[in-house]
Amino acid sequence: MSNLDPGARRAILESCDALREETLDWLFRLVRHPSTLGREQGALAEMERLYRHLGLAPRRIPTVPETLSSHPGWSPPLVDYAGRDNVVAVHTPRETRGRSLTFQGHVDVVPEGAADMWATPPYEPAIRDGRVYGRGAGDMKAGIVSYCMAFEALRRAGLQPAAEVQMHAVIEEECTGNGALACMAAMPKTDAVIIPEPGPGLDGYYTAEVGVVWAWVTVSGRPAHVRDMQAGVNAIEAANAIASAFKSYEAEQNRGERIHAAFRGLNHPVNVNFGTVEGGEWNSSVATRCRIGMRVGVMLGNTARQVKADIERLVAEAAAQDALRGAKVELAFRGFMADPCEFPKDTEIAKLAFRSYAEATGGTLRDYPATGLTDGRHFVLHGDTPCAVFGPDAVDIHGIDENVGIESIHGITRTLALSLAEWCGVERI
Ligand SMILES: [Zn+2]
Repeated sequence: MSNLDPGARRAILESCDALREETLDWLFRLVRHPSTLGREQGALAEMERLYRHLGLAPRRIPTVPETLSSHPGWSPPLVDYAGRDNVVAVHTPRETRGRSLTFQGHVDVVPEGAADMWATPPYEPAIRDGRVYGRGAGDMKAGIVSYCMAFEALRRAGLQPAAEVQMHAVIEEECTGNGALACMAAMPKTDAVIIPEPGPGLDGYYTAEVGVVWAWVTVSGRPAHVRDMQAGVNAIEAANAIASAFKSYEAEQNRGERIHAAFRGLNHPVNVNFGTVEGGEWNSSVATRCRIGMRVGVMLGNTARQVKADIERLVAEAAAQDALRGAKVELAFRGFMADPCEFPKDTEIAKLAFRSYAEATGGTLRDYPATGLTDGRHFVLHGDTPCAVFGPDAVDIHGIDENVGIESIHGITRTLALSLAEWCGVERI
């Protein structure tokens, strides 16, 4: 099945090894862009430079709510899309002899949190003990650089893929997935997709992922001076009462019989997270308004729509409590409305990933049922395209001192290079 002779395989792997320094150089450049929501421009421009460096002609794909909002994979956005267009690049072979492939990765990162808690500043990449530290280093700028260096490794070996290869650098993986959806909808379908998202402290293959719904609850209380507190409804206390209803819901959702086989053995796969809270005005005034932003996990077998209905019911029930009488409770859904997804290991692209990893590293790619989500769901649920999500060993992604293993990055680059060459076939440049 493979037109890849042992000499070519060896040459490709040697090229990967020769690219080790360049790999870290590009990773550092990407991490230096603090590409949080709405501020992805620098990282997107860096991706244009990187794609050009690979000899490709990048172009922009806008995320257009008017054309995408009726798509089942769409999530209600949080900010405007102007000036934040996704970047894609396409390699076209002289003669198509193999299968086409998409390499996909998101450039957005989650906020750094308390920057003073980081050992080194979050957007100044640093190497310690064989690992690169920085926000986004693991999730997932290392993976993006790996797929680019995999492509470059073929070129250095005098080869190029003998099939179309698309590369998508997208925004908003961390809050909607709409950037991925826009690129998927705008580009021709390929025979498979690889997304090098990081593994949890090990090189991991995503076997499944939960869905996620984002909800915002705003409570407007009944104001009063603290000396007649009993006359008012404190918005912060009311929001807290509503939040506790979600903690009971979370416990219920994690009961054994509700957990899908793909997540068996995992402690607490369905999580409700209160991510933001804002409210109150003055220590000696009864708080008039409080807003909480939360993220509610969706187990396989359930859908985002069903969980949305659960949230509406929970909020309505909590708001009807006596203690909240007179308070106004509003519920809004902005951000993720994402269904859970499985990534079967018996697809051709998954089997190739496991086989290439074994050859490239001498190790075994580990199964990872993820309690977070990736853009991979779009391709599987709505794109009818097999998708393999696997990547380097990263620690504390979304946390303080996020980091990724350097040897692991190189192993993934070698794996991606072999997978690319074997999936697409190769031709001489
Ligand atoms: Zn990610």
